[in-house]
Amino acid sequence: MSKAFMKVLAVTMVALSITILGCSCPVSGFFQESISGFNVVLISWDGVQREHFYELLIRGALPEIAAISIEGGLVNVTITGHVADTKAGHAEMLTGYGPSITGVYSNRKFSSIPEGLTVLERVESIFGRDGVATIMVTGKTHNLGGEKGEPFHNVRTTIDVFDSNAANANVVGQKATAYLKQYASRRFSAFFHFSDPDSKGHKFGENSREYEQAIVTCDLWLGRIVQSLKKSQIYSSTIVLVTSDHGFDEAKTSHRDAPYVFAASNRHLTRNGNLGDIAPTALALMGEDPAQFTPPFYGAPLVPWRGATASELVKSIIVVLSDSFRSHACD
Ligand SMILES: [Zn+2]
Repeated sequence: MSKAFMKVLAVTMVALSITILGCSCPVSGFFQESISGFNVVLISWDGVQREHFYELLIRGALPEIAAISIEGGLVNVTITGHVADTKAGHAEMLTGYGPSITGVYSNRKFSSIPEGLTVLERVESIFGRDGVATIMVTGKTHNLGGEKGEPFHNVRTTIDVFDSNAANANVVGQKATAYLKQYASRRFSAFFHFSDPDSKGHKFGENSREYEQAIVTCDLWLGRIVQSLKKSQIYSSTIVLVTSDHGFDEAKTSHRDAPYVFAASNRHLTRNGNLGDIAPTALALMGEDPAQFTPPFYGAPLVPWRGATASELVKSIIVVLSDSFRSHACD
C-alpha cells in the first residue's frame, strides 16, 4: 500500500475514532443495558487483512459494516500466542483461550476443544435449553466442522443448531437469516462464519479483485442479517459483532504472518484488543460476568459492561484515542 494512501487512512481513522467516541452514550446507560443482556450475533469474515479492510471501508465499498461501526464502534484486533490460521483463530475467538487450554495450535496440530469451553456451550449451560437458542453456521467442514477429533466436535453435540458445510457466503448468509427468523421470538446466541475471503485469497491473492469481492459479499450479507433483525423487531436487543480469525500476507496467497484484523459492532467498543477478548465480550453482552468463568480469561470485554468501573471505561477511551494517533503517525 502506498505512503499517500496510508496518510489518507491515518486521517480517516483518527476522524472515525473521534466520531465514534464523540457519539458515546452516557456511561450509566451502558451499564444499565448490559445488566439485562442482549442476543449476540458473532460473525467471522475468514482471513480479512486489516489494511485491505480499511482500504475498502474508506473507498465506500463496505457500507454495511461502516453503518454498524458508526452506530457502535470499530477497533483493531491483533492475534498473539498462536499461528494466524483458521482453526487456531476460531478456537481462540470462540473460547477466549489459547492453544495450551483449547489444544488447537494450528490447522495441522489440534485436538477437540475440551467440552464446555466455547461461548455457545457456556451460554447453553447457563440459560438452559429452554432459555436460549444456540446457533453455529459455518462455511468450512475441514476446519470448522464437527467430526470426531476436530476442534468443534463437542460443540456439535451440545448446541441447538450446528450447521457446517463447505459453502460460500450466499449459502451461509441465507441459512443465517433463515435461522434468525426461526429463532426471533427466543433469546439466542449465534455464530456465523463466512469463508469466502480466505478461499479467494488463497486462490487469487490478497490484492486480487476476487479477494475484494469476497469481502464485499460478506458486507452485503451483514446488511441482510441486520435487515432481518430489524424486520423481526429484535435489532435493538441484538448485538452484532464482526471480526476475523486471521489476516492475509500482503500481495500473497498465504497468511503465515498475518495477525492483524479488526472488530466492528453496533455496540460501542472501548479499546483495541486481542482475539482473546472476543469471547469475554460476547459473554458480557449476554449479561454474564467474564470473571466468573474458569479457567480465567486473559482477555476482557471490548464493550462497557456491568463489571467495569467508570474509571476503567474512561481509561479505555483514552487508550483507543492514543492508539489511533500513535499507529497512524509513524508511517
Ligand atoms: Zn486460509
